[in-house]
Amino acid sequence: MVSPHRTKRPWQGKTEKSATTDLPEYDPSCYLCPTNERMGGEFNPSYKKPYSFINDFSALLPDVKEETYDNGLLHAESESGICKVVCFSPNHSLTLPLMSVPDITDVISLWQKEYRELGAKEGIDHVQIFENKGAIMGCSNPHPHGQIWAQNKIPQEVLKKTGNLQAYWDKHGRSILEDYLVQELKLDERIIVENEHFVALLPYWAVWPYETMILPKRKLANIGLLSESEKLSYAEILKQLTIKYDNIFNTSFPYSAGIHQAPTDGREHPEWHFHMSFYPPLLRSATVKKFMVGYEMFANPQRDITAEQAAENMKSLSDVHYSQLDATK
Ligand SMILES: [Zn+2]
Repeated sequence: MVSPHRTKRPWQGKTEKSATTDLPEYDPSCYLCPTNERMGGEFNPSYKKPYSFINDFSALLPDVKEETYDNGLLHAESESGICKVVCFSPNHSLTLPLMSVPDITDVISLWQKEYRELGAKEGIDHVQIFENKGAIMGCSNPHPHGQIWAQNKIPQEVLKKTGNLQAYWDKHGRSILEDYLVQELKLDERIIVENEHFVALLPYWAVWPYETMILPKRKLANIGLLSESEKLSYAEILKQLTIKYDNIFNTSFPYSAGIHQAPTDGREHPEWHFHMSFYPPLLRSATVKKFMVGYEMFANPQRDITAEQAAENMKSLSDVHYSQLDATK
């Protein structure tokens, strides 16, 4: 449901600037900075490139005894897995949009390595790579980092996606996202950025005001299949899209972003077309978020700004980060 009349005020292209938080490059109290002690008592190495380690507070643990519980209508199964933390950079003050393209490429290389290695492990059928950015998204540490949860069973969202991708593949012999991308490129109403191998767009079905997805033009089931030039395109579009996010409200834009890709259950998954989705909560300013409450909880998601308008807003924004624009003045 889309109700653009609710916002009344048109997009004004500029909003109040939120205070820029100047973070140090190294914070002695940060458990993700190089050489610092983590909460579990281990010390981080003096890492120079993206660095990953087993989460000291993993939600999923390996070697969990397989058990099931059945009691009338109630059913439960044990679940095992591995949770990791991925530090994007040794520099505490950075975020993806402020990192260089080669440094973002290194992050993608580490994601690829983790997806391959974790996915190849016995009893790991799915690898979820994601980033929660900003306190509003429940991320308490500003050090640039994301997480990976690798687990025994394929989680619900991925099962649903796999089923739908499979149904279209069986009927048409093509990936639904491949066909969707062709249509979106032709319409050019929701495209934000396009480069040689990737497209960033605001999906037709977007629920969050500035929800976006990054899609490879070639149907690739997972990030491990990217060629070197595709990896570079991916890094470039990640930087461009996240710069545009920060430029919407001149703030470090919060979001949850995740890579949806084929399960690692040993099957081939020709139906899968990997993509990265961004779910950011902000609507009106650096401090006004969209609340998914009331009607959204009980009936249906509802948008206040059309997908086309939000895409146009983002498309028209500078490719230079606002903090760097100011520095040149
Ligand atoms: Zn840090």
